[in-house]
Amino acid sequence: MAEFESIPVLDKGFVRLIDVMGDDQRIAAAARVSYGGGAKSKREDAALIDYLMRNHHTSPFEMVEFTFHVKAPIFVARQWFRHRTASVNEISARYSVLDDDFFQPAAEELRGQGAANKQVGEGNLPSSEAAELANLIKRSNESSYAAYEKLLEGGLAREQARSVLPVGIYTQFYWKQDLHNLLHFLKLRLDWHAQAEIRAYAEAISGIVKRVVPASWRAFEEHALHSASFSRAELQAISRLVSRETLETELRESGLSRSRVEETLRKIYGS
Ligand SMILES: Cc1cc2nc3c(=O)[nH]c(=O)nc-3n(C[C@H](O)[C@H](O)[C@H](O)COP(=O)(O)OP(=O)(O)OC[C@H]3O[C@@H](n4cnc5c(N)ncnc54)[C@H](O)[C@@H]3O)c2cc1C
Repeated sequence: MAEFESIPVLDKGFVRLIDVMGDDQRIAAAARVSYGGGAKSKREDAALIDYLMRNHHTSPFEMVEFTFHVKAPIFVARQWFRHRTASVNEISARYSVLDDDFFQPAAEELRGQGAANKQVGEGNLPSSEAAELANLIKRSNESSYAAYEKLLEGGLAREQARSVLPVGIYTQFYWKQDLHNLLHFLKLRLDWHAQAEIRAYAEAISGIVKRVVPASWRAFEEHALHSASFSRAELQAISRLVSRETLETELRESGLSRSRVEETLRKIYGS
């Protein structure tokens, strides 16, 4: 497995897997320790992992840990570091002079301000305006970096000179995260509400996770990534609209096991 390859993200960033501790088998073995079960086949492990994910039995997923080396703009890192359960070590701009590396979106990547949801960017800007705005970003970064260099040349400490640098400058960090919390990070940061730039990193990380723990990834896709939870009012509306018998037939025909069918019916119609 080419786990040490660097995956390019955005214009100058990357994600690189440094190390992994554990795999799908470790998760299954950790779960089985509760009742002293021995080693099982891959298929049985996958079924157990699916069960664990489905029932939010999360601690076995904490037995697997990933360490990544990431290069990302500071505004992405700010969002990233809100995930508090990871261990992080970041480049020190008190100790090192930061490189002249800024996130420079191409004109066609510039998004308009979202109207309904004020937190998101939506659609592309007209190309006539976009080229000018992309150029403004570039000139602004260049002038900030020129000021930074001048301040350093004037003898100002790096820790103070950096204050003139914008949040589009790239930083680098090591990020160690257990699989349970890593999947939580991916669930939030792959979602369309997440900013496109951090989503690009989440997608790169997903590609790695998928290869390292394929059974866990499948269970995650099924029970977390592409699933949804419903409020009481929503469940009541669904139960009024669809009869128990119709849903039961549909679920059986979709190939779900008997226990999964019963579990689903209990979720919607109660006992
Ligand atoms: C689309 C989007 C928009 C966002 N917008 C904003 C914003 O405008 N402003 C803003 O400030 N943040 C914003 N956030 C950040 C968000 O509020 C969370 O801080 C971030 O997503 C981390 O989620 P988390 O706490 O579940 O994850 P983690 O910090 O990784 O924690 C994982 C889990 O551990 C538990 N946990 C960890 N630490 C504690 C603790 N101290 N106490 C109790 N339980 C804990 C919780 O169960 C938590 O879910 C946004 C996030 C997203 C995805």
